[in-house]
Amino acid sequence: MSDVRNVIIIGSGPAGYTAALYTARASLKPLVFEGAVTAGGALMNTTEVENFPGFQDGIMGPELMDNMRAQAERFGAELVPDDVVAVDLTGEIKTVTDTAGTVHKAKAVIVTTGSQHRKLGLPNEDALSGRGVSWCATCDGFFFKDQDIAVIGGGDTAMEEATFLSRFAKSVTIVHRRDTLRASKAMQERAFADPKISFVWDSEVAEVQGEQKLSGLKLRNVKTGELSDLAVTGLFIAIGHDPRTELFKGQLELDEEGYLKVDAPSTRTNITGVFGAGDVVDHTYRQAITAAGTGCAAALDAERFLAALA
Ligand code: FAD
Repeated sequence: MSDVRNVIIIGSGPAGYTAALYTARASLKPLVFEGAVTAGGALMNTTEVENFPGFQDGIMGPELMDNMRAQAERFGAELVPDDVVAVDLTGEIKTVTDTAGTVHKAKAVIVTTGSQHRKLGLPNEDALSGRGVSWCATCDGFFFKDQDIAVIGGGDTAMEEATFLSRFAKSVTIVHRRDTLRASKAMQERAFADPKISFVWDSEVAEVQGEQKLSGLKLRNVKTGELSDLAVTGLFIAIGHDPRTELFKGQLELDEEGYLKVDAPSTRTNITGVFGAGDVVDHTYRQAITAAGTGCAAALDAERFLAALA
């Protein structure tokens, strides 16, 4: 049993690194799979983070993640910039396979694989991320005071983002592919009643324009094919998220949208010894601080589970 680890953590965002920090400080010597391309998680793709407590003047996303990584490493977390490609979580000893085909064993596994926001799939979208293009009004809305903003989508998230942004913005234009909204009645009514919010129906974004910063959008009417310009300096894309749970299908219980189910307020999944934290579980808050918070909870849950085995 000497090659059996106490705990393996899959994922390296705020949830994974916080779980790594706590389990490392508890002398559990965690092995952390950070992901091959996206080690550090979602904040590696952003600029300034102004709402993570403790950084009075804000901090750049990649710097925040480098700090979290170094802090976990300092206490003995073993960090591997690789993907997990297969898991067997069903037995008492769990196995996790990396891209080289090596099988790693552990008594406990913490899943913190995050979620991926859906993209429009247009050129320029990624290049202008953090430069006018955003997927999170709570995170970035403040940067768009008195500006003209577009929100793409027709669901609850789009309405929530639009009504939140209208507090800061000069104007908010919701662009939706259909002529009716999917959002709940209450959310729709709030958006319709907001004098700063207007709608462009039956339309999609054909072009995201700008060099260093977003300067505007080209819209296409999906019924007539007609093109029009929308001058905005902010674009919030609210067309959904996909939790990264493909790997766990058939083993861990997922909800209808594919998010990992946990026995809240704990982080226990349906399999004993497997815990979930961060955006892979969370439909609602999706913030770095909430991911870090549940990462801490998962580490404490794993620690107690391992102590009970001893
Ligand atoms: P993530 O950060 O998504 O990390 C998951 C990690 O798991 C990734 O590194 C991924 O590579 C890894 N992974 C996935 N599958 C595997 C696998 N099979 N093997 C190994 N590794 C795997 N929040 C704020 O609080 N403030 C902000 O200002 C803010 N700005 C944002 C800006 C942008 C552009 C985005 C996209 C998000 C922003 N957020 C912000 C939200 C915040 O980034 C997320 O809520 C947070 O990162 C979620 O943390 P997480 O640890 O759950 O997952």
